[in-house]
Amino acid sequence: MYTYDTLLAKVTTAGGPVREVTDPATGAPIGSVPVNTVADLDGAVARAVAAQPEWAALSDEDRRQTLLALADAVDASAEALALVLSREQGKPLNGPNARFEVGACASWLRANAALDLPTETVLDDESGHAVLHYRPVGTVGVITPWNWPMMIAIWQIAPSLRMGNTVVAKPSEYTTLSGLALAAVLNDVLPAGVLEVVTGAGEIGDALVRRPEIGKVMFTGSTATGSKIISASADNITRLTLELGGNDAGIVLPDVDPAAIAEDLFWGAFINTGQTCAALKRLYVHDDVYDAVVQALAELAAKMPMGVGTDEANVLGPMQNKMQFDVVDSLVEDAKARGARVVLGGDPDRDAVGYFYPTTLVADIDDGAALVQQEQFGPALPIVRFSDVDEVVAAANGIEAGLGASVWSADRDAAVAVAGRLQAGTVWINSHGGVHPYVPFGGAKRSGYGLEFGVEGLKSVAVPQVISG
Ligand code: NAD
Repeated sequence: MYTYDTLLAKVTTAGGPVREVTDPATGAPIGSVPVNTVADLDGAVARAVAAQPEWAALSDEDRRQTLLALADAVDASAEALALVLSREQGKPLNGPNARFEVGACASWLRANAALDLPTETVLDDESGHAVLHYRPVGTVGVITPWNWPMMIAIWQIAPSLRMGNTVVAKPSEYTTLSGLALAAVLNDVLPAGVLEVVTGAGEIGDALVRRPEIGKVMFTGSTATGSKIISASADNITRLTLELGGNDAGIVLPDVDPAAIAEDLFWGAFINTGQTCAALKRLYVHDDVYDAVVQALAELAAKMPMGVGTDEANVLGPMQNKMQFDVVDSLVEDAKARGARVVLGGDPDRDAVGYFYPTTLVADIDDGAALVQQEQFGPALPIVRFSDVDEVVAAANGIEAGLGASVWSADRDAAVAVAGRLQAGTVWINSHGGVHPYVPFGGAKRSGYGLEFGVEGLKSVAVPQVISG
């Protein structure tokens, strides 16, 4: 069990090439993390590959029990993990943020311990007998982004370990401390080499993808990086699951009660201060309820406290980095220049030390605006007016991303009918962005391919083998 200080001491490095880590809310130094070389990567891959046969030789029940022990270890150090995460990533301790994320890590480990992927008898008659088995891939490369750095890592690590694989994980260079802290807690339970972590930026990720010993890469990040990973994987035919960028539409039909849906709309869009893959990023509202929905959202959003993550009162935090702050800022400025109406926010203090972008609602914006067409990945929601369902379905489908979407209506059947027409991996009804460890999750179109979670998630880190005869 760690305290914040003991955990930080365990993962902070003084010698060698290091990257200084600062708090995105205050600019204060937090610690420093190693910047690994390709030689370090080679060592990590070699250790993970060497550890794999023994790990795979354990019984499934032993690995199941290990996952449960990992969940207990996360719980025992939950507050320390949440503090590291909050300080480095910026997300508040409270609300659906740091404590929630650490709690989800423990839940995902337990859920992956509970799942079953039995062998399947796919043919058993006079024409023959065939059984489908799921074998370990070997060593899995896990490359993660900076928005949910612990939870997304666990999404890949838990099923990989359960299926008898070892893992080499590369956290984002923006949230390395969080990745190392989580691994430190897990590695107190795991045998040596089963979970290795390498640090660094894109070139280390690229080198990891290109290693022939890596049988599968689980990647979560931007669509542009996903394309590069597809190219890098080509020589070795490395298997890939790609969870890429989204620009999810939410469609509000005219029969809703605006006050009743405002809070779920808000969190659908602003969870993790908008820095969420499957957040609601383009809100389309029917003309009949447009003004009432905008007003209800604005009243609610204005009350949500934003500030330093370690202040218990806050539920919204800073942007994690200046790069993303600038993306949001320029998209909102562009919307203003096009004549859109800023209902709330839109006036950041660009000279402040922390990367705080205020909660922003942009109404009366045309569908062609960059704030609608591109992923903002921050707390600025464009709200587009519509009057025709066919037109709004075309607008929702009119971009290259297809991660999630949502339909909001008092009439479930009407919502499901619209949902079926949307090109997205998940369509939520009257909510947005909720994930569950038993429900498969993955993108359509340029939001990637492959599924995670549930039994499909276990299959994604396994190699199917048919034994016939
Ligand atoms: P990113 O693509 O910049 O970086 C993600 C990871 O890839 C980092 O660890 C980075 O170091 C690494 N990387 C960069 N170049 C690489 C290369 N050439 N080869 C291998 N690895 C490389 O993404 P980001 O800015 O950290 O994350 C934000 C994006 O992630 C958003 O677009 C968001 O929508 C998306 N995202 C998607 C999901 C999902 O489940 N679909 C979840 C979270 C975030």
